[in-house]
Amino acid sequence: MIDGYENLEALATKAEADFKQYHKKNLKQLKKMDCEIHQLHDTYTEKIDCLQCGNCCRILGPRITDNDIRKMAKGLNMSPSKVLDTYLRIDEDGDYVFIKMPCPFLMPDNYCIIYENRPKACREYPHTDRKKFYQVYKLSIKNAYTCPIAYEVLNGVLRIKK
Ligand code: SF4
Ligand code: SF4
Repeated sequence: MIDGYENLEALATKAEADFKQYHKKNLKQLKKMDCEIHQLHDTYTEKIDCLQCGNCCRILGPRITDNDIRKMAKGLNMSPSKVLDTYLRIDEDGDYVFIKMPCPFLMPDNYCIIYENRPKACREYPHTDRKKFYQVYKLSIKNAYTCPIAYEVLNGVLRIKK
C-alpha cells in the first residue's frame, strides 16, 4: 500500500459519518459541484500512484460487459468464448466478473497486462471524475475503504466552501 495509507480502512471508518452527513445536508449543493470535484480528482490522481496501490485490481474487480469481452478477446488474440471460459464467471447479480480476485491480469508490480484493452469499469474507476458525481457519492464512501483517491476526494469535498 502507498505510504500514508496503510491504515486506510481505519481512516475511512473514522470519516464515514462525516461523509454521510455531508451528503444528507448538502445534496442540493453537491449536484452543482462537479467542477470542484473534478479538480480534486485531477489533484489526487496526480499525487497518488496507482502502481503503488492496485487495491481495486486486487479486491474489487469490475463488472464486465459483452463489449469488454470482445475487446479483451481481440487484445489477447483469443475467441470471446475462450475468454469467457478462461477468465470469467457470472456473479449473483447475473453480471460477468473475473473468475477470481486478484484479477488474473494484474502483475506483481501492479501493471495490468491488458491495459489497452481493459474493461470500461477499470478505466472509469474510482469514478471521481464522472458527471453527476452526486449519483456515486454513496458508492464512493464504500470505495474510500480501499481506494486512497476516493478517500481524498471525499475529504476534499468536505472542505469546499459552500
Ligand atoms: S483488467 Fe487490468 S485494470 Fe482491470 S482489474 Fe484487471 S488488472 Fe486491474
Ligand atoms: S484507483 Fe484507487 S484503489 Fe485503484 S489503484 Fe488507484 S488508488 Fe488504488
